Amino acid sequence: MRDYDLLVVGSANADLVIGVERRPAPGETVLGSDLAVHPGGKGANQAVAAARLGARTALLARVGDDAHGRLLLESQRAAGVDTGGVQVGGAPTGVALITVDPSGDNSIVVSPGANARLTPGDIRAADRLLAGARVVSAQLEIPLETVAEVVRTRSAGSRFVLNPSPPAPLPADVLAACDPLVVNEHEARFTLGDAAGPGPEDWARELLALGPRSVVVTLGAQGALVADGRTGTVVLVPSPRVDAVDTTGAGDAFTAALAWRLSLGEDLATAAAFAVRVGAAAVTREGAQASFPTAEEVSAL
Ligand code: ATP
Repeated sequence: MRDYDLLVVGSANADLVIGVERRPAPGETVLGSDLAVHPGGKGANQAVAAARLGARTALLARVGDDAHGRLLLESQRAAGVDTGGVQVGGAPTGVALITVDPSGDNSIVVSPGANARLTPGDIRAADRLLAGARVVSAQLEIPLETVAEVVRTRSAGSRFVLNPSPPAPLPADVLAACDPLVVNEHEARFTLGDAAGPGPEDWARELLALGPRSVVVTLGAQGALVADGRTGTVVLVPSPRVDAVDTTGAGDAFTAALAWRLSLGEDLATAAAFAVRVGAAAVTREGAQASFPTAEEVSAL
């Protein structure tokens, strides 16, 4: 019996958001709305999304010994995430400074802060946490060498899910461990570079050829393409139609839901059919973590 369905290894950021009439030009100062502070970061988002669905979830991350770090820990605990693996200190909590104008266009500056100090040594020190998880999920808002250490340290029987965001060149051993590699259109094109074919089905097959055991390409309102290296099949899993209000965090909700259902033993297409519903539910509400649905809300969709 493993302790966790899902261990998320990744970032935790405070999103500092100010609404502005117009985003400032170089050298310019503009006045904006009251500051809103939201817990975010891809790792923290995935952990909250999974726990809210009912997954037994733990987070391995690093935050600063500051108010933003406490906000992140509190939001994780409120969702039911085990935060025993969250390291505190070494640098300020990661921050995303976001200005958003009335049309919804934004400008973002990210200070990785403590996320950049989550080291391979932190991963080795958390070997018991890694050994207790059926599925381990990671993204790339922490150092790539740390993600590579996750691949080496996780237990042989666990499954590794990677969303390479923000995209970066991936070492062969990391690619080979992915089951699945989860990418959106932008991440698929980056990973394939000049080799990218004309459409998502091409990308799914081309990404499989790079070594992962399986690949999922998310396609926004269209759903997701699922490519299984064991069978060589590529299947489109359509998303339910919803009135999209805010797509922030949809990819994190999708990946968390997929990883959780895989931990329960579902096959990739069945898990993706659940995950597109979770992604669709998340776009019907404002915000990232605030938009993630419970299992009951997914059933009602
Ligand atoms: P984001 O960066 O906005 O978090 P992403 O680019 O990583 O998202 P998407 O492919 O846009 O990922 O969305 C992930 C999943 O969320 C989709 O596969 C789909 O299930 C769901 N989804 C996203 N947008 C919509 C939409 N407009 N209608 C229905 N479902 C959606």
